[in-house]
Amino acid sequence: AVKAPASVFAEGWLKRVYEEKPAKEVRTRFPPEPNGFLHIGHCKAIAVNFGFAKHHNGICFLRYDDTNPEKEEEKYFTSILDIIKWLGFEPFQITYSSDSFDRLYELAEELIRKDGAYVCHCSREEVNRQRGGPDNRGKRYACEHRTRPIDESITEFRAMRDGKYQAGEAYLRMKQSLTDENEGNPQMWDLPAYRVVEKNHHHRTGDRWRIYPTYDFTHCLCDAFEGITHSMCTTEFQQSRISYDWLLEQLDMKTPKSEERGPMQREYGRLNVGGTILSKRRILMLVEGATAEKKNADGTIEKKVIPPSVRGWDDPRLYTLVALRRRGIPAQALLKFVEELGVTDALTEIQPPRLESSIRKHLERTVPRQMLILEPIKVVIEDATPEDEQELTVPYDPKGTITGERTVKVGKEVYIDRADFREEDDPEYRRLAPNKVVGLYNVPFPIKAASFSKDETGRVTEVRAVKAAWTNEKTKTHIQWVDVATGIHVTARQYNSLFKSESPNTLDWKTGGWADDLNPESEITYEHAVIEKGLRDLIKQHTLNPSGSSDDLVRFQALRVAYFCVDVDSTKDKIVLNQIVSLREDKGK
Ligand code: ATP
Ligand code: MG
Ligand code: MG
Repeated sequence: AVKAPASVFAEGWLKRVYEEKPAKEVRTRFPPEPNGFLHIGHCKAIAVNFGFAKHHNGICFLRYDDTNPEKEEEKYFTSILDIIKWLGFEPFQITYSSDSFDRLYELAEELIRKDGAYVCHCSREEVNRQRGGPDNRGKRYACEHRTRPIDESITEFRAMRDGKYQAGEAYLRMKQSLTDENEGNPQMWDLPAYRVVEKNHHHRTGDRWRIYPTYDFTHCLCDAFEGITHSMCTTEFQQSRISYDWLLEQLDMKTPKSEERGPMQREYGRLNVGGTILSKRRILMLVEGATAEKKNADGTIEKKVIPPSVRGWDDPRLYTLVALRRRGIPAQALLKFVEELGVTDALTEIQPPRLESSIRKHLERTVPRQMLILEPIKVVIEDATPEDEQELTVPYDPKGTITGERTVKVGKEVYIDRADFREEDDPEYRRLAPNKVVGLYNVPFPIKAASFSKDETGRVTEVRAVKAAWTNEKTKTHIQWVDVATGIHVTARQYNSLFKSESPNTLDWKTGGWADDLNPESEITYEHAVIEKGLRDLIKQHTLNPSGSSDDLVRFQALRVAYFCVDVDSTKDKIVLNQIVSLREDKGK
């Protein structure tokens, strides 16, 4: 028997992280900034943090890292929790960094009293010079504020709190190793701990605070407050581990040079998806449109107004998690894919086809089949008898992986896809053409086209056919069809990549050049598609027996077309379908 692959948590990098700190009760956290929608990369962070806790029978917090009031909005909070639940996880507790503002403030004063922080009034440029200049290589030096009396820093810190200073006029800086020549890590060069924020209204604490703690000050302390054992983040924080530990040690929340007491930070590699845009700022330009300014050689400025390129943050062409959900990607398939990519400290870069092929394999085994016609042409089977017009019972999956069956009605008039008919036959061609025989899935007799008619623009409007017999057993071909009388008219949307370029991140995002690279065929809408009546039963079964999971969508394989799901835009009168993935890698995309 084939052994099931060990879980990503039971071996390799994540196993070693556990062994470095084999805590009795594992406590982790997923700490998003509520300043945007989560993207596919965050799915890895969720899988790692929630999964690690689950694997070790521990707990995982959802902590909104809401220390930047300028960028946060309510809708992001709701959506983040929604997505975590969609992926099948339940936070042990939902916390907010802002819940700890009082405690953080107290600790900041304690740090000052321990001579571990000082209030500095230098400009940003001056601080940069103190830190060795733009390349961090120059001689580092301290300013006069660094040695000011502790009491003075306390007074000034309170003055910052009480509104004496405008943004940029005062900072609380940690007194780390700025002047130590042997300290090569810039994270130890007196980082800011608190700053004055101009637009300071906070969605939870209102107008109480004018000063806000920085990430470097907040994150490790909130980890300690929540008793986090394993604080896992992405590798761009590797350099920050030293300041993370430093602050905890200063405040006696961690034993120096030991992982025995206090939280332990470890860093894994990000998951990046190429061929698409993940940056919040750039997605916003796609969602809201943008005004780009281009400076000409003569100094004049050209304004270019770019309309929105997608319908919203959940547009199925994006790689936000709300978009992938709407597109119909099953949560379990996405999680499994992310876990299969593995977790180490190396960056994982993938292209969309790799994700799609994994999703396709999952759908192949889990969803029923349906017949869908994107661009219908009517075929009249002239010699069909009343006996031929029967209800056929056909399985949901001819291979039998998915159980169940449906009925399809054979009528005298059926729709086939325009792409399956040719006015002139060709020996290589295997589908319907005058005098050519083709099979209709599950129908006991093949048909042969006899004649066809066209409208004034030359478009074929109707094909007349007769029942036939196979002339060549070897070249038998079957196509999908839908009964005209009982078929359901639907809108079907197919998706291709949003950009023509395979690396849209390298496009010109400053002066609006990216807009020229948008793929005009990124969404193809078929307003007059037709699907077999069985779709209504799938929808009904689904409503009658909801799975109880938050990943509740009607999905199916449209034979010879693609995988689809029923979109949330659907109404009682009009069903809208989204293509999840194509049937094969080369077709569509
Ligand atoms: P972005 O800059 O891409 O919007 P972020 O780092 O600002 O992302 P946060 O809200 O801070 O987003 O992310 C929450 C957690 O998710 C952090 O621990 C972060 O390291 C992790 N994370 C963010 N992007 C990725 C990614 N591409 N792969 C894996 N983990 C990620
Ligand atoms: Mg961040
Ligand atoms: Mg960010």
